[in-house]
Amino acid sequence: MNARPDPTAEDSREKPTMSTMSTPFASILHKEAVKALADSRAYARGQRYFAEGKVKSVTRNKTSLAGVVEGERSYAVRLWVNESSLAYSCSCPHGEEGNFCKHCVALSLAWLAQAPKAE
Ligand SMILES: [Zn+2]
Repeated sequence: MNARPDPTAEDSREKPTMSTMSTPFASILHKEAVKALADSRAYARGQRYFAEGKVKSVTRNKTSLAGVVEGERSYAVRLWVNESSLAYSCSCPHGEEGNFCKHCVALSLAWLAQAPKAE
């Protein structure tokens, strides 16, 4: 059994068993939520990262969003819905301390830019 807490190895755990999903991802992740979670500096830097095309991939599942954001190195970012609020993780030192870092901001903005309008 592989019990290591490797954030890049979580994909295999996402089984489609959540048939009682009551919180659409789109209603949770929006610009105001991102602004509220990130401090203003992280938000500004995340915006720039997104504008500069540093978000290298965005993978959306029903309940989570995973992406790679390039900074000083490549960081693995994940966003997901946890009890109708937005949860997040990033492999950068700032993110690992539990902060909604600029990489989380950049990934959020990338998703918002490509997401269809939430009904
Ligand atoms: Zn980060």
